[in-house]
Amino acid sequence: MSRFWSEIVETLTPYTPGEQPRGQSLIKLNTNEHPYGPSPKVIDAIRAAADARLRLYPDPQATALRTAIGQSHGLGPDHVFVGNGSDEVLAHAFAAIFQGKGALQFADITYSFYRTYCRLYGVEPELIPLDARFEMDVPAFVGAGAGVVVANPNAPTGIALGLEQIEQVLRQNPDVVVLVDEAYVDFGAESAAALVPRYDNLLVVQTLSKSRGLAGLRVGFAIAQPQLIDGLLRIKDSFNSYPLDRLALAGAEAAWADREWFEQTRDQIIAERARMVARLAELGFETLPSQANFVFTTHPNCSAELLLAELRARGVLVRHFPQDRIAGYLRITVGTPEEGEALIAALAEILPRH
Ligand code: PMP
Repeated sequence: MSRFWSEIVETLTPYTPGEQPRGQSLIKLNTNEHPYGPSPKVIDAIRAAADARLRLYPDPQATALRTAIGQSHGLGPDHVFVGNGSDEVLAHAFAAIFQGKGALQFADITYSFYRTYCRLYGVEPELIPLDARFEMDVPAFVGAGAGVVVANPNAPTGIALGLEQIEQVLRQNPDVVVLVDEAYVDFGAESAAALVPRYDNLLVVQTLSKSRGLAGLRVGFAIAQPQLIDGLLRIKDSFNSYPLDRLALAGAEAAWADREWFEQTRDQIIAERARMVARLAELGFETLPSQANFVFTTHPNCSAELLLAELRARGVLVRHFPQDRIAGYLRITVGTPEEGEALIAALAEILPRH
């Protein structure tokens, strides 16, 4: 260990993001990006903001963006927090809310960053096993010391909880914060943001990376009652008072305003998801019921690792997680119908050989 490191560095195993290849024409279905990209109005807004005003600091309060996001939920800007991708919003939530309070409950199969943040912030993870159908055991989320984190829809399964179940988790844990990570909520699940006025222990986290096609701009946000938002702002201001730069603010505001592009492309992705599930079934795949922009699928006769490698050799990237119960599954992002057909053609070629 380097004598210059703090003790915590030694214990960290950083999260490994999905591969971002350079300079190759691969079909990228591995990191749940949006196949059509952001609204053209986003590009125009970023271009218009790229001038000499870049010498000025951005609005540290991100007031215009927070107001716009709040308004679409019937809430004021004091109910909204923005950050550099929802990963940063999650990190601030761990620091502001969960740190130093005991055990944090989350599902044993879920977004792996939660464990990474637990190590980083010295929070003890209390893993609640998903049931045999990979569904959440809602009654088991009770008595948490530090709080609860629920990804809804869950990742990498894509399975969503209904709002009654989210409310059950909230009611079972009235004295701690329940963070609902809604990175994929726009593809078919119901947002818990509607519950914010009724629950002071609810923190809803969303992102512009998935349904707004802006993974490259890094914009995420949280919705909660002002008391919780205040805690996040204190952490943010102690860390970096300017979380979003001028271009990100301009792009995010334009993305939020163009509801038509958002709805149209979201509907295309949802339709393509149903088509992909059917095409995969024709090849013998069993796919979990997804409300996200990806599917989690397994083949009874072929290992996921082998499929991953053979797909890669044919220029198609998908994701695999080498964790016990899900090692037989591939997570495949829903792309365009053309990308979907290229994936199916590759699989149809690979499967008979194994
Ligand atoms: N939550 C979940 C469940 C995710 O899968 C991701 C994307 N990897 C994120 C949060 C973070 O997304 P971003 O930082 O791009 O907003």
